[in-house]
Amino acid sequence: MADRAAVNPVPLPHDLLGRPLHDLRLSVIDACNFRCGYCMPADRVPEDYGTDASQRLSFDEIDTLVRAFVRLGTRKLRLTGGEPLLRKRLPELVRRLAVIPGLDDIALTTNGMLLAQHAQALHEAGLRRITVSLDALDPQVFADMSGRRGRVEDVLVGIDAAVAAGFRRLKINAVVQGGVNEDQVLPLVERFRGTGHVVRFIEFMDVGDSNDWRRDRMVPSSVLRDRIAAHWPLHPLQADYRGEVAERYGFDDGEGEVGFVSSVSTPFCGDCHRARVSADGRLFTCLFAADGADLRTVVARGEDALAAHVADLWRARGDRYSELRGSPEVRDRRRVEMYLIGG
Ligand code: SAM
Ligand code: SF4
Ligand code: SF4
Repeated sequence: MADRAAVNPVPLPHDLLGRPLHDLRLSVIDACNFRCGYCMPADRVPEDYGTDASQRLSFDEIDTLVRAFVRLGTRKLRLTGGEPLLRKRLPELVRRLAVIPGLDDIALTTNGMLLAQHAQALHEAGLRRITVSLDALDPQVFADMSGRRGRVEDVLVGIDAAVAAGFRRLKINAVVQGGVNEDQVLPLVERFRGTGHVVRFIEFMDVGDSNDWRRDRMVPSSVLRDRIAAHWPLHPLQADYRGEVAERYGFDDGEGEVGFVSSVSTPFCGDCHRARVSADGRLFTCLFAADGADLRTVVARGEDALAAHVADLWRARGDRYSELRGSPEVRDRRRVEMYLIGG
């Protein structure tokens, strides 16, 4: 790992609320092979949705972008989408990013449909962490939630392939919606307890303007935690690092842990150190922002210019949507779609 002082010769930016820029979520593609109703509903997003390759940041541009973010203090990078495994030659991109000095961690979030095909090449390229989204084990519920595009067997085979390729301790993310997949919570816990993988339940969020979000469809984490604990007693665990979004709980019998991401019931804006960049190179300083700032033209001017530009944008950041949710200040605001910035 390169000397941090050499990587960061300039003061690191803090936003208006004193938050550093520690994490970057980078969408590598805005297309997806699923149509999850909470993200990209089939009746609102056309079958062939997706920008042309020429509109996406190239690997060279992504390389410059990530290097500039690292200079501003970014240590963790998550590749996401849309569905990132639809981006051609993704392992080649990982290979390039894995050698950037100062970048400690590269992870990938995927719906898992194509994971069996790509796990080995991604591991060989240097990827070490994968999060798989898996909302249900019941084949029918799963198929319905994916907009009738996905098969749960394929995702489970993908998870096994990832383990065979050398990935350890996968995160398995499930978005829980009342009346849709609440009954899948205990089966998901049971399936992955004792495997080393960590299931994390995510509160259904009001991201974007397409998913007809209603608060009464969101199942608070506290309800799920109590339900799980009634079967398998739990105790709270320390966060792995400051700004970790999931609250962690260990099983008292030592069979691993489970996590909860509670951004609706328990907002964590005060610790939000995360920037998001869309596949076409726009910076979003909040998951619920209306617009992003175009970085692509500045990427063309190189790493120094980009780092200075992003530092200025970050210093002007005052986002805390989840803390203000429902207040007049944000109520009628337009919100970027999740599939553009990757969660
Ligand atoms: N396609 C990949 C996948 O599904 O893992 C990566 C992109 S997806 C936008 C990233 C994450 O956002 C997924 O875990 C998904 O479940 C989550 N997500 C999407 N819409 C959501 C919503 N309305 N509320 C909570 N989580 C959501
Ligand atoms: Fe696609 Fe992921 Fe959104 Fe589902 S959550 S539609 S898999 S981008
Ligand atoms: Fe961060 Fe915005 Fe979510 Fe708050 S609402 S935690 S600022 S992304």
